[in-house]
Amino acid sequence: MEHTVSLKTKAVKKFKQGYPLITKDVVNHLSESIEEGNVLKLVDEQNRFIGKGYYGIQNKGIGWVLTNDAGEEFDTAFFKRKLQKSIKERKPLYDNPDTTAFRVFNAEGDGIGGVTIDFYGGYYLIQWYSKGIYEFRSYLLKAMDELVEYKGIYQKKRFDKAGQYVEEDDFVKGERGDFPLLIKENGIRYAVDLNEGAMTGIFLDQRNVRKTIRDKYANGKTVLNTFSYTGAFSVAAALGGAVKTTSVDVANRSLPKTKEQFLANGIDPDTQEIKVMDVFDYFGYAVKKNLAYDLVILDPPSFARTKKRTFSSQKDYKQLIKDAVSITAKKGIVIASSNTSLISMAKFKGFIETACKESNRRYRILEEFSLPDDFKTTKAFPEGNYLKVVFFQVQ
Ligand code: SAH
Repeated sequence: MEHTVSLKTKAVKKFKQGYPLITKDVVNHLSESIEEGNVLKLVDEQNRFIGKGYYGIQNKGIGWVLTNDAGEEFDTAFFKRKLQKSIKERKPLYDNPDTTAFRVFNAEGDGIGGVTIDFYGGYYLIQWYSKGIYEFRSYLLKAMDELVEYKGIYQKKRFDKAGQYVEEDDFVKGERGDFPLLIKENGIRYAVDLNEGAMTGIFLDQRNVRKTIRDKYANGKTVLNTFSYTGAFSVAAALGGAVKTTSVDVANRSLPKTKEQFLANGIDPDTQEIKVMDVFDYFGYAVKKNLAYDLVILDPPSFARTKKRTFSSQKDYKQLIKDAVSITAKKGIVIASSNTSLISMAKFKGFIETACKESNRRYRILEEFSLPDDFKTTKAFPEGNYLKVVFFQVQ
């Protein structure tokens, strides 16, 4: 089904320039009969063609523009063209024996909003962000069959329930993986599981940050890794020569998962500290014990609710930095990461500035990271570059 939808005049210019995200506020009227996966033909109020996309509900919007060419159809050939280009751009990663997990297709950055594809050591993981894009699955799977070799394909339906992952089996086709699967990233081994809930064990967008920690910042240092999940940053630090790492995460699973990551790299987990507790309680404990770390890593979720408190990056990140700075040694380094597009780099640096000022600590920014190249973004949609990581040294 195709629906012709007119754009409000004020929005026409940005869509002509390639803006891909369709939101409720830019369209004049949607038919009652519209269904996810339907094609949307966007026109201006004079009925002139602007672009074509699909209807699919995400937290960000109600669909994505996929082309500004009126004659282009969304079929297997379309998906194949987009995927072929994205695969070609990842050739250096496919050819790199030290890195066997990376993003192959990054949604709107590679021309199709609402879907990503990651490669994990011979397996592919597709993430669908709306029911709408999931309607196109047969085209994408066909395109993959024609373009890539794989052992198996898994998927995550990220639209199932608000914040809740309900799918029990994520296997799609090919052969099933034997999990945990060991992948490599710049020579570091990580254990991943593509069929265990919403996450896989590793966030591939932090690859360059992990490498930088290992290569430049860890040697001889004491490292505190907060919101540590499976301890990926801790492993990188330990391999880089950290004296000791302390990983703190409130989730029970983090303990066995972090041990597993250390073991995968030949590091005895008993030489490291792994705490299952609320990070904010840990800060209190560390202050009381007069602990001071050379390197403190902050990588919270944008929003989290634990039994005791809620954390929202927008509201609470500044205080989180103050807490971190209070247990950072003189000339120590804080690595602050945020993955919400609601906070810009400028605003994020503002949090660092204010937090250091209020803590009476002078600071100096040493490094900044955003998404790595395989998490391709487009100029037309800069908010797609959600990752901000700042390394700063406090006096
Ligand atoms: N830094 C990790 C990814 C963090 S994911 C990495 O590099 O892989 C976010 C983690 O924060 C989750 O594992 C979640 O359990 C944890 N978390 C959320 N709120 C928390 C809190 N208040 N205290 C400790 N951990 C928390």
